[in-house]
Amino acid sequence: MWKNCIIGTRGLLATFVYGLFCVIRCPMSKAKILQPDLVLGDVVIHITPELLKRYNLKGLILDVDETLVPWNETDISPQLLTWIEQIRPHVAIWLVSNNFSYRRIQRIANYLGVPFLHGAAKPSRRKLLQAVKAMNLPLDQVAMVGDRLFTDILAGNRLGLFTILVEPMGGKQFSLRNFEVWLSQLLGVSLSKR
Ligand SMILES: [Mg+2]
Repeated sequence: MWKNCIIGTRGLLATFVYGLFCVIRCPMSKAKILQPDLVLGDVVIHITPELLKRYNLKGLILDVDETLVPWNETDISPQLLTWIEQIRPHVAIWLVSNNFSYRRIQRIANYLGVPFLHGAAKPSRRKLLQAVKAMNLPLDQVAMVGDRLFTDILAGNRLGLFTILVEPMGGKQFSLRNFEVWLSQLLGVSLSKR
């Protein structure tokens, strides 16, 4: 458990540093590359078929840890399963996670009945592009949905996807995420619910 925690913390920090590097090197404005197209202001299960229709979204790439399941839990809530069944008829769904544990992500993906990619190293665009190609959809009809600005939102914006920031499943005690929110707002990102 502690070993996983240390590896997990190192991974989170590494992706943040990689994200920071991408933001600094990006020719676009820092605020624009980190700006979510939609700040949901709630957890992922509040994305409705109506919302998908409003933004003409035909595909969703979902982050896993803290977006679908708290990072230290493996059980999937009945509410999450109900939500997946509710939106499945309307969109193609892929899970794309930075988590290096194939077993964890495979287990969650199999339970939800959706394809997945793990070890994505977001803000890298590589595995997001792989998922979009598999969906065979234009970039602007696919949303990257995640809880973190410097990985999920940054990766989605770098690729030209629609980006949706959601609240973390485990609550707001996650300090690196809070730091990313603080830093992004300092750079001019607007995170008020829209
Ligand atoms: Mg996450």
